Amino acid sequence: MVEKHEKHYEDTELYRLRHSTAHVLAQAVMEMFPDETQIAIGPPIKDGFYYDFDLPRSLTPEDLRKLEKRMRQIIAGHHEFVRTFTTVKEAQKQFSDQKYKLEIIQDLFLRYENATTEQPEISFYTHDTFTDLCRGPHLEHTGQINPSGLKLLSVAGAYWRGDESNTMLQRIYGTAWSSADDLKGYLWKLEEAKKRDHRKLGAQLQLFHFSADVGSGLPMFTPKGETVRHLMESYVRDLQTRYGYKHVWTGHLVKEDLYKKSGHYQNYRAAMFPPMIDENITFRLKPMNCPSHMTLFKEMGRHSYRELPLRFAEFATLYRYEKSGELTGLTRVRSLTQDDAHIFCAPTQIESEFGLALQLIQDVLRRYHFSNYRVRLSLRGDGDKYLQDDEKWQRAESALRSALDASGITYYSETGEAAFYGPKADFMAQDVLGREWQLSTIQVDFIQPARLGLTYIGEDGQEHTPVVLHRAVTGSTERFLGVLIEHYDGAFPVWLAPVQAVIIPITDRHLDYCQKLHNNLQAHGLRTEIDTSNDRMNAKIRKAQSQRIPFMLIAGDREQQSNHISVRLRSGEELKSQTLEQFLALTQEAMASGK
Ligand SMILES: [Zn+2]
Ligand SMILES: [Zn+2]
Repeated sequence: MVEKHEKHYEDTELYRLRHSTAHVLAQAVMEMFPDETQIAIGPPIKDGFYYDFDLPRSLTPEDLRKLEKRMRQIIAGHHEFVRTFTTVKEAQKQFSDQKYKLEIIQDLFLRYENATTEQPEISFYTHDTFTDLCRGPHLEHTGQINPSGLKLLSVAGAYWRGDESNTMLQRIYGTAWSSADDLKGYLWKLEEAKKRDHRKLGAQLQLFHFSADVGSGLPMFTPKGETVRHLMESYVRDLQTRYGYKHVWTGHLVKEDLYKKSGHYQNYRAAMFPPMIDENITFRLKPMNCPSHMTLFKEMGRHSYRELPLRFAEFATLYRYEKSGELTGLTRVRSLTQDDAHIFCAPTQIESEFGLALQLIQDVLRRYHFSNYRVRLSLRGDGDKYLQDDEKWQRAESALRSALDASGITYYSETGEAAFYGPKADFMAQDVLGREWQLSTIQVDFIQPARLGLTYIGEDGQEHTPVVLHRAVTGSTERFLGVLIEHYDGAFPVWLAPVQAVIIPITDRHLDYCQKLHNNLQAHGLRTEIDTSNDRMNAKIRKAQSQRIPFMLIAGDREQQSNHISVRLRSGEELKSQTLEQFLALTQEAMASGK
């Protein structure tokens, strides 16, 4: 069995460390603004913690330095974290001048109202002079916080309870690690992530643009960007064909009624763009493919069990309404192209189809150099949202489990996280900076096929409803491209690089020779460019390096006379001068190996 029962973050030492550090921060802030600090909440988060404050003035970087210094003193005091319990009344008295805490106490009180205990118990944690309304857990004392593993990072605005109509608070972000080395490693990753930001690199590499004239969240791709997109899509398309998928095309506009039938209108309307009405028919921009693919399945006539499984795939650009404030680069956009597929199968085929999809996804992740990934298996919980058909669920869940066990992929399960229509598996892949991205997904669906009236004739001659697996490999081309830019630091592998080689003439005398080379390489399918600018050779090399172009071909007198090329790699390494044939063999090998 490969299922791993991972420790929840809440149960780890790091969680207690960060939570305790947040309390120490709150004490330091209260001392900085005595009687003027309103404290809100301060939880641990991934890789750190924050605490929200309502303060008389805006914090400066200098304040953060002072706060950090004071925190180190508090830490050195080895103050014990002491838990006490109290009644709502006493809690209200204790926090009588803290309006946000009073609101939280009121909420707790309402939640306790139906409880059986006469005396609802509210939990406090106190260390030194600071007391917080808090369930913990904490370290034993402040001395267990490593003062050299701690850093305050930034201040940002945050609305109380995330509601724009509430007061804007100041949120201090910090991080805490058990050693100075861990902190250093984390800060390096933060810095590196900033440098690799796909919005910045995307502009530097001239891959895509956003324009106020077109609208926010609607990216446009340059010739280079579109080259990468196309290569990504045709790679998956070829792979899908080899895995027995059929590609379909279902357009961009769909009658709203179809989404009422499928249930999306009821559950998903907020993510759709407003309707368009023509001749009393209401249309929507397509926010997902499922209803279209299922309708196509139905329109293709009566299906026999012999045709199943039937795998429909489409690279479809979908339109989803996202608030303009939530749009970021390519990771949150309003037009996205999903590498979507719907697999129509008999219930007995769930396991083998799921297993096949797992295999395909693993091929793709390997191709893109994601070697570290795990699967989150989302199972049914007790909630009402789940279709109460125990047999179907049990069969599907155990099919997913055995396919995962057979695949050898590390996975963990979460009960109560399944979609209302069936269990699902999501791939969480780590990039080179160790950041985890949710990419691929496979979801079993018992509901939509029945709602849309899909049937097939079974071996028994009777009509049956097929099960549908929804499957996406990389999620969306746009978001995945954003992830890839950061994962590769813009240095795409040779097969994916928009420009694979730049030809650099040493002087204008060599332009003809370069043009001949360019034509020749292009005829062999390589993506090449000639740098005809007036820059000096070294400047041209630097430019090509900053463009992350895999090969620089330098041509001067010597090369021209011997009909050779001098090859330089983007790493700076210089190769022996070689013939065109030798260079072509080199690129072929690099492409085949995926490097
Ligand atoms: Zn706390
Ligand atoms: Zn779907």
